[in-house]
Amino acid sequence: MQSRVENLGIRIQSFNRLTFPVVLNQVETTRLDKYFRVKIIESPQQLKKFIKESERGLLLYSFMTPQLPQILKEISWINHHRKPSLKTLAGGPHTGGDPESSLKLGFDYAFCGAAEMGFGSVVQNYLEGKLPKVPAIFRTAEIDQLDRSLPISHLLPISPPLEITRGCYWNCKFCQTSCQKAKHRSLDSVRMYYQELKRRGHHLRVSFICPSAFEYGAADARKLNLTVVNELLEYCKTNGTSHLEFGIFPSEARPNTFSDEFVALINQYCSNRKICIGGQTGSNRLLKLIRRGHTAEQIEMACEISVRHRLRPYVDMIFGFPDENSQDRRETLQLIRKLATVYRARIHLHYFLPLAGTELAQLRPRVLDYKTIDTLNKFERDGLCTGWWKKGWQLSNELLEIQDYLKDQTVTYQNVQLAS
Ligand code: SF4
Repeated sequence: MQSRVENLGIRIQSFNRLTFPVVLNQVETTRLDKYFRVKIIESPQQLKKFIKESERGLLLYSFMTPQLPQILKEISWINHHRKPSLKTLAGGPHTGGDPESSLKLGFDYAFCGAAEMGFGSVVQNYLEGKLPKVPAIFRTAEIDQLDRSLPISHLLPISPPLEITRGCYWNCKFCQTSCQKAKHRSLDSVRMYYQELKRRGHHLRVSFICPSAFEYGAADARKLNLTVVNELLEYCKTNGTSHLEFGIFPSEARPNTFSDEFVALINQYCSNRKICIGGQTGSNRLLKLIRRGHTAEQIEMACEISVRHRLRPYVDMIFGFPDENSQDRRETLQLIRKLATVYRARIHLHYFLPLAGTELAQLRPRVLDYKTIDTLNKFERDGLCTGWWKKGWQLSNELLEIQDYLKDQTVTYQNVQLAS
């Protein structure tokens, strides 16, 4: 192993702040951090400084497909200004879903799989001068036990929400999380992290990362575990957390998992007065087609239960699915109106984004007709829904342009299977 200390740049952006403590934890537990001068890069100015000052080293990125426009600009700039011995590595959900596209964007290396299972060996190979001299895709396994993963790093001492479930039992066609089977963190591991939060004085406000809140600890999608969710929330509340959140971002709930017993737990232990429900569309035909595994009636039922427990429902809906037809739109608009007027639900409206690695990644969104646009604008004016779908539409078009651009690019690369 070399004795020289290398630069390790971590490009932190608002969307990946929660990721890097886990990645750095791997570098620290393998005791490789002593070989690096870690630079946290949070602004374009810091990025410029890092690029200017780094003769060599590694620069890490982690991003999702919606961030591609920003990432493309940055990596293009970096490649015009960096020294050849400074290497760039991309990870995160987009790269996991389509690693070749990350190389086409201009990264030297793409990392697929769980950081906990292989990132240490990439770093080790870098230090030993064994990384490929050509672009490469590193592949490793998905995580076997979530307890192996902890967002604790002395190099980046922030306290992100604790990931209690990774992956998902469901297989929605549009979602990047669906690619992995659900794995839950044990309560012992939660307690251990909680004690670390307490040691840092960061335990007063606690939340969790979980793709389907009420499925935490469930043996499968049909066997929900009320006891374990109760223990999770009770432990935090009785150990000093004054602001506990569950059932809102980043731990939303699926409509089919709602029951009085689960929602009552939020009332009993948590501070949030709202609950986020993944509805996606009001059309049963479309719900089936995108494999959501619930019905429009269950979305309404989830709102009804929430209101019964004095929690305001916030429902996510998406327009522009590739197979959406005018009848689907009518049904979604009807449901939005009903949820907003009967249950005072707040509807978060999104526009379909083709996410890398999903079944719908190569399909084009449906363009909205004027009548639907008119109705959505009226809903927004009346406070029934947000207008975020307009930004989503714009972003969707940008992603399609980038997709088309990348299709024309070619890249030769090496595949490297990492031992986990
Ligand atoms: S339930 Fe949610 S997290 Fe799971 S696959 Fe569907 S959209 Fe993704």
